Amino acid sequence: MARIIGGIGASHVPTIGVAYDKNKQDFPAWAPLFKGFEPAAKWLEEKKPDVLVFFYNDHLNAFFYDLYPTFALGVAPSYDVADEGAGRRPLPTLPGHPAFARHIAESMINEEFDLSVFQDRPLDHGVFSPLPLLWPHKDGWPGAVIPVQVNVVQYPLPTAMRCYRLGQALRRAIESYPEDLSVVVVGTGGLSHQIHGERTGYNDTDWDMRFIDLIEKDPMTLAKMKHVDYIRLGGAESVEVIMWLAMRGALSDDIKKVHQNYYLATTTAMTVLVFEENDTAPKTHEHVLHNPQLTGIEDIAGTYAFDIKTGTDCIRLNRFFWNMKTPEARAAFERDEAEACAKAGLTEEETVLVRDRNWLGLIQYGANFFVLEKFARLVGETNLEVYASMRGETFDEFLATRQVPDAR
Ligand code: FE
Repeated sequence: MARIIGGIGASHVPTIGVAYDKNKQDFPAWAPLFKGFEPAAKWLEEKKPDVLVFFYNDHLNAFFYDLYPTFALGVAPSYDVADEGAGRRPLPTLPGHPAFARHIAESMINEEFDLSVFQDRPLDHGVFSPLPLLWPHKDGWPGAVIPVQVNVVQYPLPTAMRCYRLGQALRRAIESYPEDLSVVVVGTGGLSHQIHGERTGYNDTDWDMRFIDLIEKDPMTLAKMKHVDYIRLGGAESVEVIMWLAMRGALSDDIKKVHQNYYLATTTAMTVLVFEENDTAPKTHEHVLHNPQLTGIEDIAGTYAFDIKTGTDCIRLNRFFWNMKTPEARAAFERDEAEACAKAGLTEEETVLVRDRNWLGLIQYGANFFVLEKFARLVGETNLEVYASMRGETFDEFLATRQVPDAR
């Protein structure tokens, strides 16, 4: 059974990453920060968690205003490092844990936390600024990360209470996963800082110390605070500490603070806290490895629920069809079908399904109908013709089953 063994709160200031890449660990200005992360890294090395669940925010690197999700959970097998304007940092690609992430998504959505899920989005300094300090890498990272993106850049943000409840729901999701995995939950951001407007440079160490105390002993007081309270007390961008509430919500009341470091050098109070979870006894949450909303669907013949697993396993084929929205992709396919399939990286089996316009086979393989219909337009078939094919009927046989057979 998966269990939470601790929680970490950590700043994600981007300049930490710059200093790390330039080997400034021992520079007087940076040593207090890097030294402060060492006990956290040592704790992780001793505890050896399999997975870190990372509450972070994207800083308009992988998501933009056209679609900025409130909560988005990564379900990909791996994550690249975002280029934030100065080139990609020289860090290894980060492994994800698709099966566990899928389970978390299903569990939380069934608890009415309607998370978005994402695959092909790189992660920015919200994850990669603290991660190498916490989890030193050699040839690769020591384990997998499940990223949970939280909107803290475009109001309305989720409330602090919602983040806290999200963490509680995450705990139930983790504890209902049957595989024996140990998990540390990380909340990133803050503490006090403001980096826009005339109030830029605002800090308040007294408030930071109170926050550090409350997040351990009285998170409910923090959860009841409004965004404007965080802005007033800690500066505008410090509102991102609501992500620490998500981490704290995933822990029990029976925790021990095993490390704390606080360093305010220029504009952001850089902090790392480590909480060890004492309540690691197995829980009695029902172990559910399938979506209870779909129990019994196997008895409904000729029906295929498109789920996150299909979406991750078959993303290449689905994207191939999805791309048919563009004139360029359509022209390339019309020019040379085989080459278009090869360029898209389709397997032999997928290429044959495409070549044969095997609509039912494609659905059974894992194509979503709504991308398939774009391909159908390209190859000159109507949806009605596709429906007939999937039913194993001629077009006329299918039309004869309709209320108005000549409504083509
Ligand atoms: Fe941030």
